[in-house]
Amino acid sequence: SGLHLPQRVRHHAAERPDSPAVTWGNTTLTNAEFDQRTTRIATALSALASGRGARVGALLRMRLEGAECFVAAAKAELVFVPLNWRLPAAEAATIAVDAALEVLIVEAEFAETAEAVREALPGLVVVLVDRASEEILPEAWTWDRLAASGSDTDPRLGDDPDAELLQLYTSGTTGAPKGVVATHRNIHNEPKALAIYRWRADSVALDALPLFHIAGAGWLSTCLSAGVHVVLLGAFDARHVADLVERHRITHAFLVPSAIQMLLDLRGLGDRDLSSLQLIAYGSAPVTPALLRRAIDRLGCAFVQRYGMTETTGSVSALTAEDHDPAGDRTYLLRSAGKPMPGVEVAIRDVATGADLPAGVSGEIVCRSRNNVAGYWRRPDETAQLFTPDGFLRTGDTGHLDDDGYLYVTDRVKDMIITGGENVYPIEVESVLAEHPAVAEVAVIGVPDRTWGEAVTAVIRVAEGALPTAAELVAFSAGRLASYKKPRHIHFVTALPRNAGGKVLKRRLRDELGGSEV
Ligand code: ATP
Ligand code: MG
Repeated sequence: SGLHLPQRVRHHAAERPDSPAVTWGNTTLTNAEFDQRTTRIATALSALASGRGARVGALLRMRLEGAECFVAAAKAELVFVPLNWRLPAAEAATIAVDAALEVLIVEAEFAETAEAVREALPGLVVVLVDRASEEILPEAWTWDRLAASGSDTDPRLGDDPDAELLQLYTSGTTGAPKGVVATHRNIHNEPKALAIYRWRADSVALDALPLFHIAGAGWLSTCLSAGVHVVLLGAFDARHVADLVERHRITHAFLVPSAIQMLLDLRGLGDRDLSSLQLIAYGSAPVTPALLRRAIDRLGCAFVQRYGMTETTGSVSALTAEDHDPAGDRTYLLRSAGKPMPGVEVAIRDVATGADLPAGVSGEIVCRSRNNVAGYWRRPDETAQLFTPDGFLRTGDTGHLDDDGYLYVTDRVKDMIITGGENVYPIEVESVLAEHPAVAEVAVIGVPDRTWGEAVTAVIRVAEGALPTAAELVAFSAGRLASYKKPRHIHFVTALPRNAGGKVLKRRLRDELGGSEV
């Protein structure tokens, strides 16, 4: 039931054929053109692949062909598998083999990775989107040849809500990336869920997210479903974001917290006209209230936070624009990930016993909804682990609900620090240290410690020009945190290790610092 992505695309083409659908660089496709292009690619891909459900991979930055492929695969009932092009070639090849790709759409920049994938998957058909394929990837199809081989007759597949649409890999923050298969039903947003973005007929949305993370794939499908004009950014660059906002009078954007940070730090931001911005959606990683307050103050538009994960496809919860009020009497809500989305049940369970916990008590966040996927791709053991006996999905995140039903995401179950028998949630310590003017970025981890089991350890990137001492920062947190929560060790670094989505890789920090007691 409901209008799924291919139907939405057809619907917009029929209703408003000449309105802009997607812009990339100097190219803009209207709704009618986008519908027609994606039908051509859909029929062409169908002919190349072995049948419905075949996996079509992509090694593409955010660009027109990526958006086309996503919708084309949906129209043809093929499964789109955008690969993380930041991965080393061997890792990308491992994922391509895991997904059993039949076709790979690639841009010349990632030819080397594509070669590695082709070596690992001998039957693979490679399609190159941006350069004559004679010079590079000699046997590859070109994008034009692919489009020319298609037909203009819409296959009218993609209407089965339980057809698989997308296979994404988790970010690999807590372990190796795992394949997650989403159906149309999983990814589909109800109008009620779409309403939090306050779309208007003339909204212009910036898409600055790679498709290989759920936030990116979800945002693109949300924008295309809403039928607004989508402007695609290539590689993320804060200056380019400001340029596009000015040039296209962008009204809506989804930015991960590290991207908001980069935008706010952009030199000359004060001279930019970003007044067209009406709403910034953000999420996919924790955000500090300090950054949020700065963003609200500086950008002056509405903000909506989403909390979700690859396995839940859509959002589990959202902090609405109304809930972001830095001057109101509920500023504590800036620490919250908002209320469960319509149709999502959220509960907090004891990590060890699985018992339901009351408001105010921290435990593992679990959720049950139509947006939850059925499981991992070819990982039956991890799939079994993913759900509770009563069908709730274990998010692997810790948090609590307040008396009004707002959810607070504190940490990863795996990142929780147990020191001297007490549970410490790193985010609480990070939030305190982030308030110190000398701290630009901070990650708090537990490192093995003979006396305490684990010792609270802060890894800090210092603000430009600041020279804080470890003792000064410990003293600063001592006044603001219970004594067992204050950092026992402080490390200064020039950069925090992050994955492609901008998330701090705490397992890497733990590996690096685990051995060295300071
Ligand atoms: P892996 O599962 O491979 O370790 P990952 O969990 O980072 O990687 P994703 O599915 O891309 O992979 O990310 C989902 C996670 O991101 C959530 O479980 C949560 O920890 C974090 N997250 C998402 N949105 C928010 C938010 N609004 N606030 C805090 N954390 C968030
Ligand atoms: Mg995860």
